[in-house]
Amino acid sequence: FCLNSICTGLNNLNRVRVADSSEERKTNPDKPTALENTIRSYIENKRPMVVDPSVGTTFDSLDEAYSFYNLYSWEIGFGIRYGKSRLNVHKKKCMQEILCGCSGQPLKDNSRSTRCGCGAMIRLLRTTDGGWYISEHRAEHNHPLSSTCGEKLHWQSHRHIDRHAKDLVYNRNFFGGMESIPFTKRSLRSLCGKISREQSDKDAMKTMDVFGKMMDEDPDFKYTVQLDEDSRMKTLLWTSGNCIDKYACFGDVITFDTTYRTNLYDMPFGLSVGVNNHFQSIILGGVLMRDEKEESFRWVFREFMRLVGGNENHPKTILTDQARAMELAIAEELPNTKHRWCKWHVLKKAKECLGAVYGKRSSFRAEFHHLVSELYTEEEFELGWASMLEKHGLQKQPFLTQIYEVRQKWAIPYFRDTFCAKMTSTQRSESANHMLKGYIPPGCSMHLFVKQYAKLQFDRDMEESYQEKRTALSGVVLKSNLPIERHAGKIYTRNMFEQFGECLYESGHYLVDEVEAGRLYTARHSRSGSREQWCKVLFQVKVDRASEEFECECGFFSHAGLQCPHVLKVLIHLGYEEIPGRYIMKRWTRDARDILPKHLRRYQKDIGNNGLLFHSSWLR
Ligand SMILES: [Zn+2]
Ligand SMILES: [Zn+2]
Repeated sequence: FCLNSICTGLNNLNRVRVADSSEERKTNPDKPTALENTIRSYIENKRPMVVDPSVGTTFDSLDEAYSFYNLYSWEIGFGIRYGKSRLNVHKKKCMQEILCGCSGQPLKDNSRSTRCGCGAMIRLLRTTDGGWYISEHRAEHNHPLSSTCGEKLHWQSHRHIDRHAKDLVYNRNFFGGMESIPFTKRSLRSLCGKISREQSDKDAMKTMDVFGKMMDEDPDFKYTVQLDEDSRMKTLLWTSGNCIDKYACFGDVITFDTTYRTNLYDMPFGLSVGVNNHFQSIILGGVLMRDEKEESFRWVFREFMRLVGGNENHPKTILTDQARAMELAIAEELPNTKHRWCKWHVLKKAKECLGAVYGKRSSFRAEFHHLVSELYTEEEFELGWASMLEKHGLQKQPFLTQIYEVRQKWAIPYFRDTFCAKMTSTQRSESANHMLKGYIPPGCSMHLFVKQYAKLQFDRDMEESYQEKRTALSGVVLKSNLPIERHAGKIYTRNMFEQFGECLYESGHYLVDEVEAGRLYTARHSRSGSREQWCKVLFQVKVDRASEEFECECGFFSHAGLQCPHVLKVLIHLGYEEIPGRYIMKRWTRDARDILPKHLRRYQKDIGNNGLLFHSSWLR
C-alpha cells in the first residue's frame, strides 16, 4: 500500500509527506508473529474466533498489523480501511487507526455507501523498539456482519488475504492436537499449507466415498475431476442417470449459475438447471470450482456436455450470471448456443443499485418488472423504457443507463427468436442460491456438500412425481369450453395447460380482421384505450392454410413454445378445433418423456405401482 494515501482525515490540511516508510522494526525470525501467537492462544483457550486483536498485540510493521486486523475482519465479517494517523515532531508516523469500513458518514447523500458511523477500530502506537502495538480495540459494530463467505468477498479489503492464512482460520477445528508443533515464522506458511492440504485430501477422499455410494444406487451416476499441478482437486463435476435422462428431453435451455459459495474452501458452487414439461426447475448437474477462470469454465462446459451426452446436442440457449470468464468460455465451447444473462441476476443488482426507487410499493418497480418480463416488440420496449425513465425522472440514473446499454443480453424483447423455455420469467427462482438455501449449512465440507446436494435432488424429484401424478390422475377445469381448449387439456401437462389458459384468456381481448382471406389477418386489442400509449395494439398474423402455418409478428411462439393470444384468436376465428401439430412443442406435453425415469415410472400406463426406487439409507 502507499503510505501517502493513508494520511487522511484530520491531517488533510497540513498533509506532510512521509518519505520513508521503512522506519519500522526489523523482523526477528526467531520471535513468533502476532498471528502465530493468536493461533497458539486460540488452541489453548478455545475461544470462538481464531484471530484476536487484543490490546498489547505487537507487530513489526503497519503492513503486518493491517493484514492481522484484515484477517480478523474477514473471520468476523466486516471490511476495513485505514483511518487517521499522526506524525511526531520528527515527521515520523506515531499513531495509526484502522477502522471498520462502515465507519464515518457517507461522502454523498443518498448513495450506496455502507458507511453508518460504526465505531469499531483498532488504534496502533509505536513500541519503544520501532514496532507497533494495539493500544485500543473497539469490537462493537452498529450494523449486521456478513456471515457467509460470498458476502465477505464483497469487502474490498478482503480481496487479497493470503490463502494460507484463510485456510488456517477455516480449518480451525483441526488444530486440536497441535500444541506440540513448534511455530516459527518460516514454517508457518508451509505448515498451514500442509494442514489444509491434509484436510482437503481427507475431504476429497470422503467425497469419493459418497460418490461411490451414489454409484451403487445409480449405475449411470457420473463424475469427473480436474486436478491442479499438485494433484489437488481443482474442479469437480457430477451428474446422475436421472439427470442424463432429463437432459435428453429438456436440455434445450439450461441455466448455469456459480454464485453460491461454500464457506469452507471459498469455492464457488454451480448448478446447471433446466425446466421440465411441468415447468419445474430441474437440476442437471453440480460443480465445485476452485477458481473462476475462463480455462476452468471451459473445462466445466466441455465435461458437462460429455457427461450428460450433450456432445452432439448442445443447448439452444444458456442463461448465466454476468461473469465475463464464463461468457468467453461459452463462446469457445458452445459456439452454437445463444448466451443470455439470467434476468434474475440483473434484477438483483437493480435492487442493490436503485435503493428506494425500487421499493416494494413503488410504481416504478411494477412498471420496470412489467417492461422487462413481458414479451414486447423491441420498438415497444424502447418507447416504454423512455417513457418510464421520463415519468420517474430517472433519465440520468447510472445503473439504468448501464443496463440499458446491454439490454440485448437480458431484456426479453431481444430474445424474441431465442427459445428460452420461459426460463426468464421473474417468478422463477432458478438461481443456485435460492435452491440451495436450507440445504447447505455454513462451513460445509465438500463431501457433506455433495450429500446435501443429493438430498436437494431427491426432494425435487419428489415434487416432480407430484406434478406427474397431478397431470396423469386429475382432470382439468376448462374456462372457455372451446374445442381448442379441450384439445390443449389433453396434450399439455397441468401446469402448461394453465399457462395456455392465460394466453387463451388474453386472446379474448382481441378482435380479428381479415386482410386477405386465408392469408393475412390482424388481431386488434379491443380496449386499446386502457393500455400504455406505447403498447402495440395491432398484430399481423400471416397464414398458410395448406401447411397450417401461422406466424405472428409478436414472436411469442419461438420464445416460449406456446402459441400467442393473437394466433389463438385467429385459429378460433377460422374454426380450428385443435392446435396445429407443428405448434405443439413436445417438451411441454404430457408425453415429453417417452420413457419415464425410474422415480416417475409408476405414473406411466401399464407399469405397476413399484416406483420410488430411489431410496437410500445414506441420504439421511
Ligand atoms: Zn462496523
Ligand atoms: Zn402474437
